[in-house]
Amino acid sequence: MSEVAMEQLKFLEPEDVRAVAAQFGTPVFVYDEATVRASATTMSTLPNAFGLTVRYSLKACPSQAIIRLFDRQGFSFDASSVWEARRAVLAGVGPERISMTAQEAVFDENLRELIDQGLQFDAGSLHQLEEYGRAYPGGEVAIRINPGFGSGLVGRLNSGGPQSSFGIWHEQLPEVKQIVEQYGLRLVRLQSHIGSGHHWDILVDAVRTMLSFARDFQDVHTLDLGGGYRVSALRSDPVYDHTEWARVVADELKQFAEETGRRLHTEVEPGTYLTALAGSLVTKVIDKTDTGANGNSFLKINSGLTEIARPSYYGVQHPIVSVPATGDVERPADDAEEFNVVGHCCIAGDILTAKQEQLAPVALGRTEIGDYVVVERAGSYCSSMSMKNFNSYPEAAEVLRRADGSFDLIRARQSIEQVIVNERIPEGL
Ligand SMILES: *Cc1c(COP(=O)(O)O)cnc(C)c1O
Repeated sequence: MSEVAMEQLKFLEPEDVRAVAAQFGTPVFVYDEATVRASATTMSTLPNAFGLTVRYSLKACPSQAIIRLFDRQGFSFDASSVWEARRAVLAGVGPERISMTAQEAVFDENLRELIDQGLQFDAGSLHQLEEYGRAYPGGEVAIRINPGFGSGLVGRLNSGGPQSSFGIWHEQLPEVKQIVEQYGLRLVRLQSHIGSGHHWDILVDAVRTMLSFARDFQDVHTLDLGGGYRVSALRSDPVYDHTEWARVVADELKQFAEETGRRLHTEVEPGTYLTALAGSLVTKVIDKTDTGANGNSFLKINSGLTEIARPSYYGVQHPIVSVPATGDVERPADDAEEFNVVGHCCIAGDILTAKQEQLAPVALGRTEIGDYVVVERAGSYCSSMSMKNFNSYPEAAEVLRRADGSFDLIRARQSIEQVIVNERIPEGL
């Protein structure tokens, strides 16, 4: 018996899990249109001072169908590379609805073509700002500011402060001014993304830093607060009320308007918040092993790092739920056992239930080989941030549960031919 509370399925029912597995095979990502729409509504109705634009941060889950869902709802987009921006354009998004904030920004024909079509460029360094100025003298531009501090769910998700390479350091305002003047730029937006899963009081401090910049740049009409808004995924997670910080930010902007007469527009760039809970990874139990009476018991699933790197990469926990292979098995809810859930990759780090290099078993109902294991909170940074094709496992399929409850394939499972499609064997080898 386990003392740990069992997690529950988020939007699928056990019979959905079996039906999806039977129809599409496993592992398979299932996304839920209704959950996406609900979180989209929460974000777009946040309290704000003088208008709000929500940009879906593409890197969370850039599947064409997911992009289309947000596009149809009138959302704007945040791209982290020119490739992500192009992917959105291929899904039908107008370039003018995309803001690009990237670590790598090269003013080659790909990027220039998008900027010429209206893509908004957000300079993430003094070098990027200068390159933009050279390419587009007199143009409109945004800058990303590192306010001198940041915050994240775990250390590696913090993207502010002296240890972070993201954005222009807050003390480099004079350099920004010099470049803006030199190239006759109009600095119209200020952006700051302090981290993923941040504490909101630190976000408010970042807003204050941006406002101090806004005082020096009269063309600024928009503050972009970045993303990073938390979701409650595990039963032990607190419930987050995002209207709380939104009200505080709105008050800051109203105060600024009173002092300066300038009514700044607000933008947010959620990725996680919009899709994390709207995605489930359905996998199958392929093996059970243990290391003896005083050892540990393991459930092996036919997925792992190839679909979900977050537990190994960040040491974060995802809700994990087991579902019997057939519906006629009665498994009492209090009949929990503790398991270490491991992936199918031949690498010791492929563990879904570990914390700081230590095993952290989870409570599951009695689970046998052939049963299903559903990894929840899998709608952001799983499909898009996996070790796809490691051990030559093909990329998993993706399915969208439509508002009417039906399931549509939105990405087919890869074939082995597709895994090697770009490889060449030189003649004579
Ligand atoms: C990753 C990223 C986001 C989204 O972060 P979430 O934690 O997924 O909400 C927003 N803006 C920028 C610039 C990013 O790099």
